[in-house]
Parts: sequence; structure tokens; C-alpha cells
Amino acid sequence: MNGLYGEGPVVIAGPCSAESEEQVLVTAHALADMGIKVFRAGLWKPRTHPGGFDGVGEQGLAWLQRVRRETGMLVATEVATPEHVAAALNAGIDIFWIGARTTANPFAVQQIADTLQGHDVPVLVKNPMSPDLELWIGAMQRLEAAGITRLGAVHRGFTPNTELSEYRNVPHWDIAIELKRRYPTLCIMCDPSHMCGRRELVGELSRQALTMGFDGLLVEVHCQPEVALSDAAQQLTPDALLQMLANLHPRHCDDAGEELEQLRQRIDECDRELVNLLARRMAVVREIGHYKQIRQVPVVQTSRFDKVLRHAIELARVEGMSEAFITAVMHAIHDEAVRQQV
Ligand code: PEP
Ligand code: MN
Repeated sequence: MNGLYGEGPVVIAGPCSAESEEQVLVTAHALADMGIKVFRAGLWKPRTHPGGFDGVGEQGLAWLQRVRRETGMLVATEVATPEHVAAALNAGIDIFWIGARTTANPFAVQQIADTLQGHDVPVLVKNPMSPDLELWIGAMQRLEAAGITRLGAVHRGFTPNTELSEYRNVPHWDIAIELKRRYPTLCIMCDPSHMCGRRELVGELSRQALTMGFDGLLVEVHCQPEVALSDAAQQLTPDALLQMLANLHPRHCDDAGEELEQLRQRIDECDRELVNLLARRMAVVREIGHYKQIRQVPVVQTSRFDKVLRHAIELARVEGMSEAFITAVMHAIHDEAVRQQV
């Protein structure tokens, strides 16, 4: 999808939910005035609990049509059922997106795909709530099989497994990067608003996403965020978006210069040494395995792994690497070591 809307990263902006004709139009005009080309607004809102504001529904389609007429922006909305798709197609909505809760349900995605058959509109597929890359890919495959040629993915983070997370939805960038590795030409956008859950963090995550080479941003913007009927804490004002974009310096160049090429060769060399070192470590692991077998010592001794882990964390800290990173690496190494001993 990159390029469809001009050069550089695409910015899709607008409120979490369309709430009133006035709120939609005021927000849209402010965004259009700053050069935003695609407007988002949710009409059908999938809420976690019943009783929340679940969207204005079909009546909002006319408001989006008015946005298109008055500002020239393309308009995008979320669809979750065949009825939503039919109504949005009928209203000439330009871009459809599938929300995280829907992507997780293959039956729902298939119904949407079946209804889109014969209507080659651009469709953005948000990642499912849980970090399941195959489920995300599977949803896009269903749409592709239905003849959708302008597919995009939206990385909006994953439900955290602890209350202590600073993010509403944890980025897990590795999953989006793996998606890009497998589908290099797929447009992958980032939704920093749903990742953060708090507007103060949106700028920093947007910077990280564009630095990594994401194709664009899907950002929630509301003319009066503090009184928004959904996701009030994470929406930006149009002015705040303008300021945020002015501070971002997207990078868009795939050509590796000579210096970059040389640096990459050094990385390749490091990786060779790394794998070699791991292989040597595993050889020792197998010797220990042999020893344990002869002396009837159980393979897993958690107190020993605790000690190994604490040692590695201490060494990594001195080298400026995070505890989370080295812990993940040591767990992966330990898993393989156990596998080699049993
Ligand atoms: C949204 O974009 O308003 C939305 C509901 O997002 P998600 O599906 O990512 O939770
Ligand atoms: Mn939202």
C-alpha cells in the first residue's frame, strides 16, 4: 500500500470512534489542513465488556462520506461482520480494516472475505490479540484468496501477560519483523495508539516504528480527547499529532551504501563466532549429560540454572544489555541444552 497515497510513510489518523457528525467533521478538517490523506473512524466498536459505547453504526457512514466530499481525504473504518462490510461497500468507504479481536477468529475473517469477493478494496489486517503470527498471516491469506490485492498489516501490539506492563499492548517487534521477512513486499503499518494506551508514549513508539522501517502509522486523533467515548487516554489532539510528526524523521531507503555493507559483514562475522561458540558450549553440555547419566544425576537442576542466569545478567549489565534480553537468550540456550541431554 505504500506509494498508493504518495511518497513516504502513510499516516492514517482520526478518532477511535465516530461519536457525532460534528466531532467527526471538526477532527477531519483539522487533519486535512495539516496534510493528512487518510481519515480513520470506528463505527462499529468491539468492546471488551458489554454496556460500553459500541459505536454509532451505519448512521456514521454518511458522516464519513461528508469527510471525503469536504476534505478529499480517503476514509477508513473497521468491519467485523458481513453486514458491516455490505454497508461500508455500499457507502463507498475507501479502506477497510479488520480489528485485533476479529483477526483472532477465522470464521469471522472468512465471512468478511466471502462478502468482499469481487470488491477489490484495500484491507488492513490488525494483528490478533495474542502473539500468534500464523493466525495473523492466515487472516490475510483468506482475504488474498477472496481476490483482495491491496492488503496491508497493522501491528498494534499484543495483550500483555502481566499487569505491570507499561504498554496496553506490548509491541513484540520481533513478530512484525518476522512478518516482513516472510512477506517483504507487504505494507506493514504500526498503530502506536493501541500499543501505548497513553498519549504520552505515542510519539516515542511512532519514532521507533518508523526508524525500524514500518510503512506508516495508524494514529488515534480526536478534537477533544479528554471527553472521547472510547480510548480517551490514548488519543492525541490534531495539534499534538502535528507536533509529533514534525519531530519524526522517517527513513526510507533500501540501498545499502558501502559503509553499511562493511558493517553488515562484521555482523555476519560476529554471528559466525556466536554460532561457533554456542556449538562449543553444547559440546560441553553433552559431556555433562554423559556424566549425569553415568552417575544417575537428573538433567535439570534449577538451582544451577539460577546461578548461571544471575551470572549472565551481571555480565550483560556491565555491557549495557537489558536483563530481559539476556534472560530470554539464556532461557533459549538452557532449553537447547536440556534437549541435548535427554
Ligand atoms: C481501533 O482501531 O479502534 C481498534 C478497536 O483497535 P484494535 O482492534 O487494534 O484493538
Ligand atoms: Mn481505539
